[in-house]
Amino acid sequence: DQTLLEVEHLQTHFFTENGVIPSINDISFSLNKGEIVALVGESGSGKSVTSMSIMGLIEDPGKIVNGNIIFDNQDLTSLTHKKYQKIRRNDMSMVFQEPLTALNPVFSIGFQLIETIKVQQKTNKKKAKEIAFEWLEKVRIPNPDKVFASYPHELSGGMRQRVMIAMALSSRPRLLIADEPTTALDVTIQKQILRLMKNLTKELDTAILFITHDLGIVAEMVDRVMVMYGGEIVEKSDVKQLFHAPKHPYTEGLLKSTPKINQWGEKLHAISGTVPTPSNLPKGCKFHPRCPKAFDRCETEHPPLIDHKDGSQVRCLLYER
Ligand code: SF4
Ligand code: MG
Repeated sequence: DQTLLEVEHLQTHFFTENGVIPSINDISFSLNKGEIVALVGESGSGKSVTSMSIMGLIEDPGKIVNGNIIFDNQDLTSLTHKKYQKIRRNDMSMVFQEPLTALNPVFSIGFQLIETIKVQQKTNKKKAKEIAFEWLEKVRIPNPDKVFASYPHELSGGMRQRVMIAMALSSRPRLLIADEPTTALDVTIQKQILRLMKNLTKELDTAILFITHDLGIVAEMVDRVMVMYGGEIVEKSDVKQLFHAPKHPYTEGLLKSTPKINQWGEKLHAISGTVPTPSNLPKGCKFHPRCPKAFDRCETEHPPLIDHKDGSQVRCLLYER
């Protein structure tokens, strides 16, 4: 069985004083061992809530109200806190957009690496230090001794992200969740970091769920793409097919606003309107107030995810048979 992760009908809601906010609604997808899949959408679409749900890090007033998260044949939604922690330590890791918030400012990089590795791999300090240096080399940090002794603020954004990747991958996890890991970096550094992540995870046979608002960035990196809008998946497709023949009008809009696709210096088109807040989702198709192709039924009918003959899936009434 090649399946590593199976998310089934996941719903995560936030129970606030102002009412229930349905941040993600009925999301299903699977990830194979070693596969790289992108979850793409604007901020507020539910991407990060999806990843936090998988990591078991949804906190009050948030709650998974429905669905299963099957990882390596066990349902994580029924795990005890302690068992979940063990899975996070050994089998799942995460890297975020801003490593400064994940690194402790008062401890050196070396100290934090050693502590992480000691806990993850139940090893002594000496061995942990060896592993730390191995990883600083693997993530191609040019001067490991210096970085080892540095404090987080003394490193560049790119170097900090390399350290985070070392920490995240040193436990050889089966799954890496990367939530906008390169968004804060400039383009050249972004590319280097992405290539590094791709090569290292390939070596380890680690799957990546790559969360981003930027389709252009994932084009060369991922196998499949899932597009989210308003807490739902609106398109699932092979990456080539998605770029070649996007189906959902929202995906078309995203592609038109992605510089890489606009090769002839054409003016970039932005999708008009704003992302709906999860507390105030429109009825019918959630994209209808912004959709250039909307027609009367779109205002009242909620489209199901429809299988397309090319193997992709799309949540749009235009694709009904
Ligand atoms: Fe646009 Fe209607 Fe399709 Fe929604 S269902 S994406 S509003 S055409
Ligand atoms: Mg986010």
